[in-house]
Amino acid sequence: MSAVNASWVSRSTGSSTPSATSPSRRRRGSSGRPPNSAPPTPSIVGIGLGGDERRAGSEPFRALFAEAARAGLRLTNHAGETTGPEAIREALAIGSERIGHALSAVKDFHLMQDLKERATPLELNPTSNLRTGVCPSFAVHPLPPVF
Ligand SMILES: [Zn+2]
Repeated sequence: MSAVNASWVSRSTGSSTPSATSPSRRRRGSSGRPPNSAPPTPSIVGIGLGGDERRAGSEPFRALFAEAARAGLRLTNHAGETTGPEAIREALAIGSERIGHALSAVKDFHLMQDLKERATPLELNPTSNLRTGVCPSFAVHPLPPVF
C-alpha cells in the first residue's frame, strides 16, 4: 500500500441530496438533462498527491501525472513540508502546477524565484506545519517572508 494518496479534485458543489427544487426532480429530456440545458461540465478537474512525503516522493507518480495531464487534468502535489526544497523541485519536475504546504521553499532563494517565475500557487497551511512539528509556533512561522 502506498504511503501517499492520490486524490481527485472535484468542482462539485452543493448537496448530493435532492430537494424539491433540485434539477433531479425536474422533468428531463431524452439526454437525462433538463430540456434546453447546457451539456454537463466534467466534475473532475485535476488530481492531487498527498500524504507522508518522507515515505514516498513525487517521482513514482510521474507516469500517472503525465497521463492525467494528457487527459487535461490539473496537477497538485503536497511537497516540502516535512522534507526539503528538493521535494518541491521533484514535484515541479513531474508537472505539478500547485504545491501544498511547501514550507521548505523559503529555505531556497532560487526555488522561490523559480516558483515566482512559474506563478506556481503555494497552498500554505500554518496549522498543519505546527501539527506535523516542522514549525514550533506561529510566532516563529516563516510565512511572512513568503510575502
Ligand atoms: Zn502537509
